Amino acid sequence: LTDINALADEYLRLAYHGLRAKDKSFNATLVTDFDKNLPKITIIPQDIGRVLLNIINNAFYALQQKQKKADANYKPTLELITMKKNGAVVIIVKDNGIGIPEQVKGKIMQPFFTTKPTGEGTGLGLSLSYDIVVKGHGGKIDIQTQEGEFTEFIIALPATNL
Ligand code: ADP
Ligand code: MG
Repeated sequence: LTDINALADEYLRLAYHGLRAKDKSFNATLVTDFDKNLPKITIIPQDIGRVLLNIINNAFYALQQKQKKADANYKPTLELITMKKNGAVVIIVKDNGIGIPEQVKGKIMQPFFTTKPTGEGTGLGLSLSYDIVVKGHGGKIDIQTQEGEFTEFIIALPATNL
């Protein structure tokens, strides 16, 4: 049984420190809102960890991209939220970065689809995440986004799934 709050917090900090080790000038506000009564669930922690790391790293990348274009008032923020909903544990990763254009949104789960320059993205992160969450754990990934404004990944993991 895994404590998703602890796992999510660990991978958020791992991703942030990894990024800051490469780019000392990058700062983001990290906001966490964890449901204290979240039930522990049966998952493969290394796999869900990879999903979180990938989605969180994508969020930081979107914040960095927006910061390059935004004015000094822009405050890059990553929110990590957990909650129980309809018998599932839900993890939300939200960034106020560049967002995803409508015509791109339908393609991002495809293997090898990337909008990043060569060397910065393989385009495999989300297709792997989809396989792990949907096929491996019987869960769901939903995306809410507005170009130029925000992106939100909503990962739902059913309580009995393996
Ligand atoms: P990669 O990160 O290697 O490009 P992914 O499968 O992780 O591959 O993501 C595919 C694409 O989805 C990204 O190249 C980007 O265009 C888009 N994307 C994913 N997450 C975000 C996000 N938080 N904000 C904006 N675009 C995103
Ligand atoms: Mg990625």
